[in-house]
Amino acid sequence: MLDDIEIARAARLKPIGEVADRLGIPGDALIPYGRHIAKIEHGFVSEARHRPRGKLVLVTAISPTAAGEGKTTTTVGLGDALTRLGRKATICLREPSLGPCFGVKGGAAGGGHAQVVPMEAINLHFTGDFHAITSAHNLLSAMIDNHIYWGNEPRLDGRRMTWRRVLDMNDRMLRHQVNGLGGSADGFPREDGFDITVASEVMAIFCLATDLADLERRLKRIVIGELDARSYATADMIKAAGAMAVLLKDALQPNLVQTLEGTPAFVHGGPFANIAHGCNSVIATETALGLADVVVTEAGFGADLGAEKFLDIKCRKTGLQPDAAVLVATIRALKMHGGVAKEDLGGENVAAMEAGFSNLSRHLENLRKYGLDVVIAINRFASDTDAEVARLRQLCAEAGAPVALATHFADGGRGAEDLARTVLEVLDGPRRQPFGLLYPDDLPLPAKIETVAREIYGAASVEYDGRAARKLAEYGERGFGGLPVCIAKTQASFSADPQRRGAPSGHVLPVRDVRLAAGAEFVVAICGSIMTMPGLPRVPAATRIGLDAEGRVVGLS
Ligand code: ADP
Ligand code: MG
Repeated sequence: MLDDIEIARAARLKPIGEVADRLGIPGDALIPYGRHIAKIEHGFVSEARHRPRGKLVLVTAISPTAAGEGKTTTTVGLGDALTRLGRKATICLREPSLGPCFGVKGGAAGGGHAQVVPMEAINLHFTGDFHAITSAHNLLSAMIDNHIYWGNEPRLDGRRMTWRRVLDMNDRMLRHQVNGLGGSADGFPREDGFDITVASEVMAIFCLATDLADLERRLKRIVIGELDARSYATADMIKAAGAMAVLLKDALQPNLVQTLEGTPAFVHGGPFANIAHGCNSVIATETALGLADVVVTEAGFGADLGAEKFLDIKCRKTGLQPDAAVLVATIRALKMHGGVAKEDLGGENVAAMEAGFSNLSRHLENLRKYGLDVVIAINRFASDTDAEVARLRQLCAEAGAPVALATHFADGGRGAEDLARTVLEVLDGPRRQPFGLLYPDDLPLPAKIETVAREIYGAASVEYDGRAARKLAEYGERGFGGLPVCIAKTQASFSADPQRRGAPSGHVLPVRDVRLAAGAEFVVAICGSIMTMPGLPRVPAATRIGLDAEGRVVGLS
């Protein structure tokens, strides 16, 4: 089989106007970026968002392993299959970040015959949204230090500032630093550091904002540090939000591209699924729902992280409700959850897969707690044996979940038609249970964390570092107790220990620190060690990427 970029390059792309046409987007609402990418203009978006809505399908997965799961690929394959079955379908994805693209994971535009294209553009600079978000974030950083430098009112103390700087790159050297060195004209030395752009609160705000006014309202509320021991300093206090909104204005218009088979795809926003909520922009999702009959969207990592946040943060804030969920699993990953090492995944091992099914089964139970109808998608790898597939189908049937084997990676949309039909049965049938969120807004913050820990992670209890408990109480006292929680935990396990695969229970969730994201409107609880600026691996994907003699990109996957 050809590699991803070769498949992508061999595709005949439609002019973006034709793709837009399928959704009834008029030419004058398109802002083209070349021939195959366009932004959709604010005026049209604000009208389309309020039209009667299509059905929403949330694609999520079992806990990720090094074996790969394939949520993005399945989102694309399902979208194409729905199109093949005659539905007006569209998909919504996050924009890839350069960090993972050049690090371990590679690009995030799908894979095999289920990709969004033009994949090089989408994976690299695309329409410059990340540039805009990085610039808006760093403008605030620069304005904070400048405010301190000139001694402006209100007086800010550099030692009490928590707002860092960002860059869209995996660069561990930038994690901790002292800046402002030099002399009296060069600012004040202070401890600082960089996070990756996808971890920025500006990214989360960008993805949750419902329009430009809401964007600016949220930017104003960003807490940049403490004013004194009793109150927070905000972006509004140094009058930064207006200029930040200006930098983000054009970027907030959703990007339209297409899949290899010409299904329209919105690729917009890209927050982390640990420190942030991990799904594409509200504006893109709502626009897509106003234009299509079925919208398929992906939430990051496993269902305990991405889907939980999609539901308890994005849906809570917007009133969105998925009409079905697709839980993606691979036999390889289930075998890893059943204790097999990555090197030994090649051979058939039905027993290990059965043992690892505990992970799938926990995610299934969890999603049902929200009243969701769940379809299991087995994303087929070439190494899966018939005996393994048959047993997995049986296990899913015993768990009462419809299941479909999908081969979109190898076969494109045709390979996901069974999955699409199974999903349509759910969408076209009556809703079996009412949709509900996991916890009410007015539950105190510690109780919200405990609810997610117990109900979703299977934990027995939550343990707080002293400072974390104090800060949480303080957020409640200062009027932020009504916000939802965004738990930053390893994606590899239901527990905070990445080594514990399967479905561990009875563990303790250690909350090491908490952070207030007042603009994004959630409280982040950091459990275990969470990297907000990743590093590159010993052999980065970047070492395999380059240009061929014709100046085309090679090695990007
Ligand atoms: P996720 O969105 O869950 O992170 P992706 O869809 O991006 O997963 O897939 C992760 C990686 O696995 C990609 O490189 C993709 O090409 C690869 N992949 C996905 N499905 C398959 C499959 N069925 N066979 C082989 N490789 C696959
Ligand atoms: Mg993905």
